[in-house]
Amino acid sequence: MSGGIRDELMWIDGKQVPARGGGWIDVENPSTKSVIARVPRGDADDVADAVRAARDAETAWARTGAEERRHALDDIADLLADRSEAIARQIAVENGNAIRTQSRPEAVRTADLFRFAASVCQEIKGISDYVSAKTLDYTRREPYGVVGAIVPWNSPVSLAAQKIAPAIATGNTIVLKASEVAPLGVLMLAAACNEVLPAGVVNVITGFGDECGAALVAHPSVPKISFTGSTSVGRSILVAASQRIASVSLELGGKSAQIVFPDIDVDAVVPGIVSAMRFTRQGQSCTAGSRLFVHADVAPSLLPALRTALGKLKIGDPLDEGTDVGSIVSRRQFDRVCSYVSEAAATYPESVYMGGTIPATGPLAAGYFLEPTVFVDLPSDARLNREEVFGPVLSASTWRDEDDVLARANGSIYGLAGYVWCRDGAAALRVAHSLEAGWVMVNQGGGQALGHSYGGMKQSGLGRELSLEGILEGFTQTKQISVSLG
Ligand code: NAD
Repeated sequence: MSGGIRDELMWIDGKQVPARGGGWIDVENPSTKSVIARVPRGDADDVADAVRAARDAETAWARTGAEERRHALDDIADLLADRSEAIARQIAVENGNAIRTQSRPEAVRTADLFRFAASVCQEIKGISDYVSAKTLDYTRREPYGVVGAIVPWNSPVSLAAQKIAPAIATGNTIVLKASEVAPLGVLMLAAACNEVLPAGVVNVITGFGDECGAALVAHPSVPKISFTGSTSVGRSILVAASQRIASVSLELGGKSAQIVFPDIDVDAVVPGIVSAMRFTRQGQSCTAGSRLFVHADVAPSLLPALRTALGKLKIGDPLDEGTDVGSIVSRRQFDRVCSYVSEAAATYPESVYMGGTIPATGPLAAGYFLEPTVFVDLPSDARLNREEVFGPVLSASTWRDEDDVLARANGSIYGLAGYVWCRDGAAALRVAHSLEAGWVMVNQGGGQALGHSYGGMKQSGLGRELSLEGILEGFTQTKQISVSLG
């Protein structure tokens, strides 16, 4: 403890440790703007310790039987399920996501991710290939060894589980760097893993990206980097990893389109649009459908219905069960989102459809709260239409021609998700197939299901990790064995 603020420690080699350099990073509750804890400011020395521990544990873990691994992952899932309410409250307090709508579902999903990965342990299969009657030829799916993983703050615990569970299910050990903005729930996840697993299999470190994350990416004993975060940092990681030809998976940013056809039932679709824009997560989702293209015939009824629905969302204390929308994660992110809103509102005042006012007084000024904000008919090249805002800000416009709306929807450097709202099945699938995105939803706006293939096209990412195939692709490498039978 330091002045009433609790200190949390990293997990390296089965032990809780501070940073070698003695530095700390403050963790803030964004709904009150108060510091609640400190975590170690890890750097290259701590990365070296964690990688050494992961290497020492690597051979024994890779040799465990599939059933033993499955039981271990199931045991971790049991611990996470028992602690899920505590984890949910921790997420709500450190990243501002409302407990009922976001943090609790995230904690539940974290345990589910371990159960899903447990089921993969016994699906690690190669093939037997025929070359000649005189040889035996087959492939093995082998772990990389040490996986280096880096995660962001927006679903901190489930995104960490999305790296840890598949990595260890496939026989790797892992060093994961939590986001400096929301590391506390991830450290609870690390504790559960370390209660079950041998020392060094799961190491979780904390620190800033340039000091700690970059050292992990550069470490010569980390053959696989699995990164989730922004496209700009992902680009720098790809460059750094290329220096030593490390394998890289990237799950990056998005600017996803929602396309609404005129044949929809407005009342049925509006809640789906709100969900797809992730308004109850303050829009802080890589898959947020932040560009809404509404057919001109339905826009006059849909946009007012959307405004009414958004007006009913309760914004406030993330721990209040009645709250729908919590706070933005940090001052930095809040300032960033507000700068997009202020710039668009000042440049195109006629486009402000709702929200857009940054609360300076009243209860919403106590934290980093921002009302759902909608702009209409911003020019396509407006910054807010091109760049990922990662906040509760939707840009709506109208369309009449299918080819034209597809060109506008695909006119982005990103290609993560897409949403089609349409009753005509043929048109819906035609558009779904034409959208340049790794994941397209038709007439639904929820999150990814376990087992889904998930990942980005274009500058939204590289590789797939979530499905059985993705886990095998992302966390194993193939070896051919060729045996003479002569
Ligand atoms: P960010 O890229 O700033 O940081 C992500 C992580 O990378 C953090 O742990 C950070 O410390 C680390 N980092 C920063 N600089 C680094 C460097 N030079 N070397 C190594 N590591 C470094 O992203 P953020 O603000 O934490 O998260 C928001 C972004 O994440 C958004 O762009 C969002 O779209 C993206 N995201 C993508 C997915 C997906 O599945 N595609 C999921 C969630 C979030």
